[in-house]
Amino acid sequence: MGAVYSRATKDVEEQGKAILDKYHPEFAGVAPRIDYVFANATVQEDGTPTGPALTHNGYPAAALARIIPIKDRVMGRGDCEIVIDADQWPLLTEEEQNALLDHELEHFVVCRDKYGQPILDDANRPKLKLKKHDFQVGWFHNVARRHGIASAEVRQFQQLVFDDDGQWYLPFIGADGDSVKQSIRDLRPSDRAIQAPVRDFVKKMQKHVSKGGIEKISLVHEGKETVIAEA
Ligand SMILES: [Zn+2]
Repeated sequence: MGAVYSRATKDVEEQGKAILDKYHPEFAGVAPRIDYVFANATVQEDGTPTGPALTHNGYPAAALARIIPIKDRVMGRGDCEIVIDADQWPLLTEEEQNALLDHELEHFVVCRDKYGQPILDDANRPKLKLKKHDFQVGWFHNVARRHGIASAEVRQFQQLVFDDDGQWYLPFIGADGDSVKQSIRDLRPSDRAIQAPVRDFVKKMQKHVSKGGIEKISLVHEGKETVIAEA
């Protein structure tokens, strides 16, 4: 394992700048200096990679975001850096590249004083900090299978379904009535432990009836269909 680093190509930098301007107005007037770095996996003599170019907590990563330490800033580096797996990068579509850059940029937060002014560091550069993910997932399918609702795996999934933000992850919500019916069915209404979450879920779903083009929401259990909402 290991990586060979190089400066990312100019077009990557420009692509990142476009995403920054489009989705991160909080950086307007702050102009953080972002270094874009390419990482290629080191290869064995026969040309096969020794492992992924980038890892995070032991897992392969498509890119990593990091604040550059003050000593390196003083020596001319940027304020923060985005290191990109350069072996994977060309395999991504432009939309996927944009989403990846946006993810890494989302990690950067400008430190501000109580008046909202950016705080500067000793190098007179804007001080940045790293934002953690809204949702961090570490699931074992085996544990979900063995423990069901008692497992963090299934509970986190349900949290995502019942949360208002869940619609971004489960795009069938509000779009396709059949999939909604299927998901409610998959929640097994006979399981007492999940009765309440199912009710919550249904309540949320009802909001999408008619508005999202759904004609009907019904719960089917053991062949019996109960209509919950109809447009
Ligand atoms: Zn991340």
